[in-house]
Amino acid sequence: MSIGLSTISYIAATILFILCLGGLSNQETARRGNVYGIIGMAIAVLATVFGPRVGLAGLPWIIVAMVVGGSIGLYAARVVQMTQMPELVALMHSLVGLAACIVGYASYIDTSIVLSGAEKSIHEVEIYVGILIGAVTFSGSIIAFGKLSGRIGGKPVLLPGRHFMNLIGLLIIIYFGRVFLNVESLSGGMFALTVMTIVSLAFGVHMVMAIGGADMPVVVSMLNSYSGWAAAATGFMLGNDLLIVTGALVGSSGAILSYIMCSAMNRNFISVIAGGFGSDGGAPKKPAGSGGAEPAGEVTPISATETAELLREAKNVIIVPGYGMAVAQAQHAVCEITSLLREKGVNVRFGIHPVAGRMPGHMNVLLAEAKVPYDIVFEMDELNGDFPDTDVSIVIGANDIVNPAAQEDPGSPIAGMPVLEVWKAKTSIVMKRSMASGYAGVDNPLFYKENNRMLFGDAKKTLEEVHAALKGGA
Ligand code: NDP
Repeated sequence: MSIGLSTISYIAATILFILCLGGLSNQETARRGNVYGIIGMAIAVLATVFGPRVGLAGLPWIIVAMVVGGSIGLYAARVVQMTQMPELVALMHSLVGLAACIVGYASYIDTSIVLSGAEKSIHEVEIYVGILIGAVTFSGSIIAFGKLSGRIGGKPVLLPGRHFMNLIGLLIIIYFGRVFLNVESLSGGMFALTVMTIVSLAFGVHMVMAIGGADMPVVVSMLNSYSGWAAAATGFMLGNDLLIVTGALVGSSGAILSYIMCSAMNRNFISVIAGGFGSDGGAPKKPAGSGGAEPAGEVTPISATETAELLREAKNVIIVPGYGMAVAQAQHAVCEITSLLREKGVNVRFGIHPVAGRMPGHMNVLLAEAKVPYDIVFEMDELNGDFPDTDVSIVIGANDIVNPAAQEDPGSPIAGMPVLEVWKAKTSIVMKRSMASGYAGVDNPLFYKENNRMLFGDAKKTLEEVHAALKGGA
């Protein structure tokens, strides 16, 4: 493929990636956005593989690597459960970081690149910074994967003098950066790179280990952003414009997403970017997912039949889904109940918290899969003021995002986090299996409120019972 055709292909791919991001910003256009992304990526891969920079001798290597990588990716995508998606995403981010490191080392030892003067210095800075971002992204994402999959406890690990340690690490990185730029021999340069890589890997581990429980959503989007910058750095090292643009798109959209997540959790963006986020202040968090919070009062249970009766008499219903809906795969059952109620003239709407579930947009994806109409799915801010006029609010496998302690208890680890005010409805019904706490590991006073009812059991099973009761009484 000629240079001209390859450049045109890269421009076409870049435009398609931008259209893809634009499409993904709205549920109704998300599918189209994905198609743009797939076509853009296919063009990008073909233009690179058959482009002017790959010789005939390199092709078999690339094809073998693509077959191996593609098969692993296909297998992972087929077997992954919807609830494991966040872990998979974290693992994918780690691979971007690893690739940036490997490309950095390869660029450094590549003897075919002979540069001098300013060009040499710029190339070396690209290598140093690329490996630095790549190593932090790699180790940070591995720890995030461990935390999200429950292999590593969610409790923040706070080493004594950790800010001091981070500062020392930064100074070591700056010092060896200077050494790297001035050293003449390859072995001297490799030594500086290796020390910096080890420190960066340790920094990534340290940064994410210090982040606890409910603060993980920001880490997921932050590492998404880091992986974009790692890819952009790789683009600089390889002199590949498309990789630079694509990396910058991912990096900046990840940064915007991090900002949105921060607002959703009432956190400070700058302190997140600086790392070590979520570890200071507030009461110590209980281990995520431990269910360790002690029940603090009496709850009023309700049966599926009684729930159906309440729904039948209601005019306004708001459904708030959470992580438990994903675990139970209850979205289709929810959709059936919604259709039935809407046929009876009940105004049913969904309230989506920005950090519901375990990844950004988790609930929207599930509801879209079940074909819940988009126009009845609202963001938290759009309907939070409507709960006082709501007859029944149904919480399906959500916990932290509807926890009134965020507003009522300044000592709570989730104090200040905006939540869906389901308790302001005439009656709220919480569907979950037990009294266990949510991801943040804190007790939920909602369960003990006078107007709250607990519908215990697996969300899918209970919703099917409610559906049967609703149909039976029709
Ligand atoms: P939570 O983790 O707070 O609560 C989920 C609830 O679902 C649990 O209390 C559990 O209770 C219940 N549950 C689990 N399985 C089932 C089932 N089969 N049937 C019925 N209920 C079930 O989830 P939320 O969505 O309310 O909040 C999300 C939390 O995750 C926040 O703390 C957020 O910060 C964090 N987070 C979010 C990320 C994101 O990007 N969205 C990323 C990482 C973390 P029980 O066991 O009793 O059934």
